[in-house]
Amino acid sequence: MVEKYLLLTPGPLTTSEKVKQAMDFDYCTWDDDYKKITQSFRHSLLEVAQVNEDEYTAVPIQGSGTYGVESVISSTISNKDKLLIGINGAYGKRISEMADIYGLDHVDLVVDEREPITLELVTEYLNKYLDITHFAMIHCETTTGILNPIEDIIPYVSDKGIVTIVDAMSSFGGVPINVKEEKIDYLISSSNKCIQGVPGFSFVIARKKLLESTEGISRTLSLDLYGQYAEMERNNGKWRFTSPTHVVHAFYEALEELKAEGGVTARHQRYSSNQKHLASGMEELGFKVLIDEKNQSPIITSFIYPSDDFDFNEFYQQLKSDGFVIYPGKISQVPTFRIGNIGEVYDEDITKLLVAIDEIIN
Ligand SMILES: *Cc1c(COP(=O)(O)O)cnc(C)c1O
Repeated sequence: MVEKYLLLTPGPLTTSEKVKQAMDFDYCTWDDDYKKITQSFRHSLLEVAQVNEDEYTAVPIQGSGTYGVESVISSTISNKDKLLIGINGAYGKRISEMADIYGLDHVDLVVDEREPITLELVTEYLNKYLDITHFAMIHCETTTGILNPIEDIIPYVSDKGIVTIVDAMSSFGGVPINVKEEKIDYLISSSNKCIQGVPGFSFVIARKKLLESTEGISRTLSLDLYGQYAEMERNNGKWRFTSPTHVVHAFYEALEELKAEGGVTARHQRYSSNQKHLASGMEELGFKVLIDEKNQSPIITSFIYPSDDFDFNEFYQQLKSDGFVIYPGKISQVPTFRIGNIGEVYDEDITKLLVAIDEIIN
């Protein structure tokens, strides 16, 4: 048996007891009650996205978050289209890899991982490549914890008639996003991040009219976003293939808890104060934050190694034995490690973490 610990990672994250209890039953997958649960959470997701059912739909896709992103990339962009990808971390790069695999015509706008994607750069690329039809970028680049300014960029790009795709995997539910106002056509997130469910599926908030125009584009059977949508519409929330029944019930409970907490605004508040407490406490202990404060997300923070001989593995093991699990860094320029502050994580947990770190390093 593994010792229990608090996950300070960007998901899977620490979930509540009630979310875990919701999985303590073997549910039937084609039963009407089950389909109602699916329809209900699809509806709740639109509320989180601040959009209505006439214009938007929420479509779940089995698998981890990447499956949802790949579903959008592989089944909504045709061979005649051209995709611009904003890249300042591993998740942006992943979209470029997908585009390569599917042979999509694409242009990569690559920025230093410590800097945000800016409207200025995107404009420059759109002026240079006049045949761009689709644009994809990451909201919170979990690689570093930087928050890209989608609210500056996406409406501008959309106004040019370009289809907009946002990977909001690690921010949706934890940072307010008005999908309609921000003119996002496809937003992707998953069950195990800021909604605070367990891993097992991703979901796409899609503009219906646009999604309905993508029928027949899909290059795969199982990642066909339109296919999953059409089946759910036709059959009252029936998933095309075996769905993660336990995960779905846990997710339903997690959405109830999000509402009970006071919605995205309240959750954003809690995450932000967790992050501020974490960053200032770590700086007092001598650690430096990688990302400029003005671009830092309230989700996960990268800290630079305090010295050349800093042994991350030893630090990690000591923290784990104190009941905290953190994350290694993921960028090449500077050695870093990351600490997430989302999930069932509260101010007192950050206080305890900082005490534990103080004891390890001093
Ligand atoms: C977590 C995450 C993903 C998906 O990763 P999976 O391991 O497939 O769940 C994609 N993009 C971002 C920004 C993420 O944080």
